[in-house]
Amino acid sequence: MKISVIGTGHVGLVTGACFADRGHRVLCVDVDKGKIAKLRRGVMTIYEPGLEDLVRRNVKAGRLKFGTTNAEAVAFGTVIFICVPTPPRPDGTADLSFMESVSRDIAKVLKEYRLVVDKSTVPVHTGEKVKQVITKYAPKGADFDVASNPEFLREGAAVQDTLHPDRIVFGVESARADKVLREVFEPFKAPILSTDIKSAELIKHASNSFLALKISYANALAAVCDLAGADVQMVTRGMGMDRRIGLAFLNPGIGYGGSCFPKDVSAFEAISRELGYDFKVLREVQRLNEEAAGLFIKKIEQELWNLKGKKIAAFGLSFKPDTDDIRESVALKIVKMLMEKGADVRGYDPQAMERAREAVPALKTAKSPYDAAKGADAALLLTEWKEFHNLDLARLKKLMAHPTMIDGRNLYEPDKMKAAGFTYKSIGRP
Ligand code: NAD
Repeated sequence: MKISVIGTGHVGLVTGACFADRGHRVLCVDVDKGKIAKLRRGVMTIYEPGLEDLVRRNVKAGRLKFGTTNAEAVAFGTVIFICVPTPPRPDGTADLSFMESVSRDIAKVLKEYRLVVDKSTVPVHTGEKVKQVITKYAPKGADFDVASNPEFLREGAAVQDTLHPDRIVFGVESARADKVLREVFEPFKAPILSTDIKSAELIKHASNSFLALKISYANALAAVCDLAGADVQMVTRGMGMDRRIGLAFLNPGIGYGGSCFPKDVSAFEAISRELGYDFKVLREVQRLNEEAAGLFIKKIEQELWNLKGKKIAAFGLSFKPDTDDIRESVALKIVKMLMEKGADVRGYDPQAMERAREAVPALKTAKSPYDAAKGADAALLLTEWKEFHNLDLARLKKLMAHPTMIDGRNLYEPDKMKAAGFTYKSIGRP
């Protein structure tokens, strides 16, 4: 099958490369010419485990190509996947202007049958709008279908998630679109849920909001455990052993970030309200998430008292491990809050340092966690990269002015930290 991908970012590049790896012929286009030039030279534009090999292999095999115009995409693929940004507007609703502009680009050059599939995360009813725009701008009688195919990949595990998905969801309006999409996804050997477009659109918002809710629930539990002197790790483990609940996404911490959860929760809350339903629990999820970062700062202040002039090492700056993505990173938000309070922060991240320096030019960075910890009054574990799992605690202790570790991800064992001579604080654990 010939497939085009419009928008070669985190989702588009991974999706395109994985389609190619499964035997399809793929053209990935992007308006960002610099991005495409880099990819054509074999230089990756994002850090994602396994991606570089995958792209190289499929470019070499002639299955994956790159382009700079949406017209090329329409000319090439029978199926066109739209993977453009849908960022939040200041009022929390999704900005769908990229979707509209791409729909118009597609319409203008539509000649033969094309299946236009929205992979970007969008509010319910977007598929209808895409169809209206294409109908309006395309030549009369143009032959096309619109479909929805929400994406569930996790950054940091995007290649594995895309090659081996839990499920493929798509929403279609015609038997023809259903048949084409089954052919596209057949090589992935995953369970398929084919439904109507509106339901498919809702599945994505409902899933991400539910995961965010689980995280916020765990954070609220941790706050209660802190007050009660109980151990949240034990509480969530006990809950998770119940198959109806499960342990995933019940880890308390400094809150969720990234380019998806915050914007998807607010877009889902906004579209529900627009439709006439007040989805109050989603606002509470957002409030609890805001609160988590504040509670973490309080923990630091309880340990260090005044932050002005205090030397603090920050381990991890990306929004989660195994990615250099810092969009809505709570780690970086905490670093900024500490700097505003006058703390002297030195950050270290295995992959996200360059992006972090661009976003926070005043941030001092270090070459390693040990370098960051030199003379520090406290070290903060903000993103649980593998590199931080087995730190040399004796070395760290020697380097720090005061061996204090405040763990925002409950990565370390309290007993082990105590035995290593650290003052240790974590989330919801005595
Ligand atoms: P991204 O910013 O990494 O990539 C989007 C790309 O689209 C950019 O390279 C941009 O230059 C390009 N683009 C913008 N306007 C364009 C246009 N008119 N024509 C062609 N290209 C254009 O974004 P992303 O993280 O890949 O997210 C894309 C969508 O997928 C969003 O709706 C997001 O919510 C959703 N999503 C993201 C993830 C994730 O983990 N990043 C997971 C699931 C779903």
